[in-house]
Amino acid sequence: MYAPPGVWKGQKTLLHARLAAAWQPCVSERFPAFGHRREGHFRPQVTMARYVLKFGGTSVAGIDRIRHVAGLVKTLWDAGHELAVIVSAMSGETNKLVGWTRELSPLHDAREYDTIVSSGEQVTAGLLSVALDAIGVPARSWMGWQVPIKTDSMHGTARILSIDPAGIETRFAQQRQVAVVAGFQGVAPDNRIATLGRGGSDTSAVALAAALMAERCDIYTDVDGVYTTDPRIVPQARKLDRISYEEMLEMASLGAKVLQTRSVELAMVHNVRTQVLSSFEDRPGTLVCDEDEIVEKRLVSGIAYSRDEAKITLVKVADKPGVAAAIFGPLSDAGINVDMIVQNVSEDGQATDMTFTVSRSEYERAMQVIEKAAARIGYRKILSDTNVSKISVIGVGMRTHAGVAQTMFRALAEKGINIQVISTSEIKISVLVAAEYTELAVRALHTAYGLDAA
Ligand code: ADP
Ligand code: ASP
Ligand code: MG
Repeated sequence: MYAPPGVWKGQKTLLHARLAAAWQPCVSERFPAFGHRREGHFRPQVTMARYVLKFGGTSVAGIDRIRHVAGLVKTLWDAGHELAVIVSAMSGETNKLVGWTRELSPLHDAREYDTIVSSGEQVTAGLLSVALDAIGVPARSWMGWQVPIKTDSMHGTARILSIDPAGIETRFAQQRQVAVVAGFQGVAPDNRIATLGRGGSDTSAVALAAALMAERCDIYTDVDGVYTTDPRIVPQARKLDRISYEEMLEMASLGAKVLQTRSVELAMVHNVRTQVLSSFEDRPGTLVCDEDEIVEKRLVSGIAYSRDEAKITLVKVADKPGVAAAIFGPLSDAGINVDMIVQNVSEDGQATDMTFTVSRSEYERAMQVIEKAAARIGYRKILSDTNVSKISVIGVGMRTHAGVAQTMFRALAEKGINIQVISTSEIKISVLVAAEYTELAVRALHTAYGLDAA
């Protein structure tokens, strides 16, 4: 199994597996930042530094917001820094473009989807460049293909394979020009635009920071950092000054939308110091960093939830070798990720039930795949439920402390919330519950683990 050298000391198999799947060896070779960052990491602040700044949809939601962002960029530029700015589409734009595409054809060509939905970022990149120029900061917009940011061929959910920052660096050196780069997009091997999946501008930013060997990647958004849970549903949520890459990776992959999961994978692999902060208020945000840089040790760092879940149960499948392969093989061939899996022991040694979850957005396709493979799998009937949510408790403290699961089960029981499926890993416990209990469960757990702000 591949694990990039140097970064992995003390980290465990599960994470290896996930990241090895996400990153092929060639990727780290192609990002020149790899290796270098470890020395740069603790380097004292130099007068002139290189930063990547990313502004999400709400931060560029209108002309006034874009002017405000230009002002923030100017302050750093005036201080002499080299700056690459990644921008998202204006708030609501991507949803609108996705909606139009689906309305015309639910089964559209993914290459055309990419042509359409990537356009929101093009508009913002142009507008911010104009806004910067207008206040005396030289700036030029870059689309993914112009950098170039090269991706694989999975249109709609492409992964970045390489970035060549030479063009941007030349303009840093020769013209002190700010690079305004459209997030969320790159160019696929077929020479067409590819998008990186929803929330993908975070990944554009971290990848560019790695390629440019930037001092830090600052992700500006509408909250002033990473909280113990989504502050929109738990007002008592507390802001974390620091969070480890591993915990952030779990939080993101378990539903906390504040950073796209792949951006955290990349930050971890390339050791990119990443800060989440507000573009609305001037105060320090949350630093995503190595675990050993965090002094305050917590048992549980956060609670995440995901409504993007669907549960499928195959009733009475044979209890014999090869059945799991017959079910999960075709799903994997179709590129569908299976998350939680439960198989009961059969009473009679003959037949049992198999339950698993997939993302809500892949549910229809998963059902089609299973029904097509029905003869090979052999089951009596298929049950499904798209009205479920996954609630997860995350913390590196779980490695060394027992009883974390018990607190979770008790807190949910006290609220009368039934647990449908449970899955655990080294630093998280997830449960599947009826969707209507999502907020109640998150709030109850937030209190049970003592995370509520005083
Ligand atoms: P942007 O458009 O800037 O990329 P997003 O909407 O993608 O912003 O991400 C920011 C949102 O993430 C916040 O408004 C917040 O509701 C949500 N969020 C979910 N979980 C968390 C968390 N643990 N900490 C902070 N924000 C969170
Ligand atoms: N605009 C894209 C989205 O809404 C990418 C991003 O904002 O990160 O998903
Ligand atoms: Mg986002």
